[in-house]
Amino acid sequence: MPPFQRDWAFFLDLDGTLLDIAATPEAVGIGLSEKNLLERMRAASGGAVALVSGRSLTRIDELFAPLVFAAAGQHGAERRDAQGKRHRHRFPASALRPVAGGIRSFASRHPGLVFEDKGASVALHYRLAPQLAAAAHEAVREAAEPLGDQVEVQGGKMVVELKPAGCDKGSAIESFMQEPPFAGRVPVFLGDDVTDEYGFRVVNRLGGHSVKVGEGASAARWRLENPAAARAWLDAWLEKCGSAST
Ligand SMILES: [Mg+2]
Repeated sequence: MPPFQRDWAFFLDLDGTLLDIAATPEAVGIGLSEKNLLERMRAASGGAVALVSGRSLTRIDELFAPLVFAAAGQHGAERRDAQGKRHRHRFPASALRPVAGGIRSFASRHPGLVFEDKGASVALHYRLAPQLAAAAHEAVREAAEPLGDQVEVQGGKMVVELKPAGCDKGSAIESFMQEPPFAGRVPVFLGDDVTDEYGFRVVNRLGGHSVKVGEGASAARWRLENPAAARAWLDAWLEKCGSAST
């Protein structure tokens, strides 16, 4: 792993990276220790901590309440900068509703599929019914057809999602890096899934540190074994860079 530096800006995926994966997204829990870790990191980095997740900002805030972090939700379709200002993708969320209804009804006919409407994107989870993976991907692809190239179908770990085209975790990180307090710092991005590859490539290009959590091919330059190892590594950074005042 790269030597710790004080001038890092942290971009953190949640599920499978900072948090252990559970059977359903609702079952994922967050403890005081994770909240405490992020709050101390934010203080030690001059505020340069952003959560970059497929979850909606609403769900991210519920998880971390009462803390509120800079965050990109729904793979960059929505973003809240460090000043609290919200940025939304121009694609109207309402255009997704009819399509979302079709995917929802598909899920209701197939026990084990979990449908999630996040507002600007929708997800179909098949962790509880992995044998339905191909059918789930096909159903979302088909439902998306009327929207043409305005939307993208995106696979992830045990999930297939439909989101506005032209936003991803990489573009979200790029936006943060143009704003205070991130600008001028070295970006460090931790992620675990195929959707995080966009972020890894941007961070590599910006001369930062890309860290893949878990197994699998990746553009990331560094690797940590699992979320526990990721938390321990961030904790070690705090230990080294968080105590003395800058
Ligand atoms: Mg993840």
